Amino acid sequence: MHLLYPIAKRFIAGEDLQTAAKAIRKLIRAGFFVSVDILGENVHDRAQAEAARDAYLELLRRADDLSPSLDISVKLSLLGLDIDPELCKTHLEELLRQAVPHTVRLDMEGSPHTQATIDRVTETHAHFSNLGQALQAYLFRSEKDLESLMAQNISVRLCKGAYKEPSSIAFQSMDDIRANFLRLARLLLKQGHQPAIATHDEHLLKELLAFIEQEKIPAENFYFEMLYGVARDLQKQLRDRGYRVRVYVPYGQAWLPYTLRRLAEKKENVLFVAKNIFKEALGLRKLG
Ligand SMILES: Cc1cc2nc3c(=O)[nH]c(=O)nc-3n(C[C@H](O)[C@H](O)[C@H](O)COP(=O)(O)OP(=O)(O)OC[C@H]3O[C@@H](n4cnc5c(N)ncnc54)[C@H](O)[C@@H]3O)c2cc1C
Repeated sequence: MHLLYPIAKRFIAGEDLQTAAKAIRKLIRAGFFVSVDILGENVHDRAQAEAARDAYLELLRRADDLSPSLDISVKLSLLGLDIDPELCKTHLEELLRQAVPHTVRLDMEGSPHTQATIDRVTETHAHFSNLGQALQAYLFRSEKDLESLMAQNISVRLCKGAYKEPSSIAFQSMDDIRANFLRLARLLLKQGHQPAIATHDEHLLKELLAFIEQEKIPAENFYFEMLYGVARDLQKQLRDRGYRVRVYVPYGQAWLPYTLRRLAEKKENVLFVAKNIFKEALGLRKLG
């Protein structure tokens, strides 16, 4: 599988913090904001969950050196959710205490974890206001979750969703997912607390830019958020228009599942990625 590492390197900032720090600083110098993610998910024993917590604590100790306002992305399954929810809660609270004034944001994982994640963010945010949440536009339930999180002033990052989910709980067609994304993004832009609109989809971005201009939504009310190494041309165009663009920067040794999700993102093949890398390199895409 190490054969894939040259491809992985496009999507991850390195296998350790020292290497990732260079990429993070470069992005910040270029006027981007950053959300840092340590790769890994679904740990199966306490020692692995503690090691993940320690890696995040090490990152958080360096956070002030990297940026005055860093966003840290975390998967609850990496902190031990499947082993012992209480252990996971303790780990998350340790991170939140160390994180101030930076923000910790929970990624949303596959549907077996959705309710536990929503329960955790709701309960913990009552004590730690520097906790945010990601939601997936492909899930039917996300509209209700979004309304509930907005009512609690919890900062939401909206993405399409990256896992295979059944038709009983999730939209399947790209048209339906896009339509729901637009609806939820408009709600967030109008009423959300520092939301992040996380997509590289040019169609959605064009629609939302028109909405933002029409509704005169100030640029300091929200972020656009994109993945490290994906659609860098669009990231720069949005930044140059005066919007805040946060780049999601993963690093760590467990890069394989993350890279495979990126490769499977659409049309399920590497050719698609190659085509977009090519279009990006030639500057063929314009947001208008
Ligand atoms: C900041 C951020 C955080 C995320 N957090 C989560 C999370 O917590 N939970 C979750 O389930 N999912 C998460 N995702 C992933 C997300 O759900 C989608 O799987 C992913 O963003 C692709 O959807 P898209 O909206 O970009 O649209 P797509 O239709 O997949 O892609 C739109 C366009 O983006 C470009 N593009 C997309 N992927 C690639 C690629 N790999 N290489 C080159 N070009 C590409 C292409 O131009 C493509 O046409 C996150 C995504 C982002 C940006």
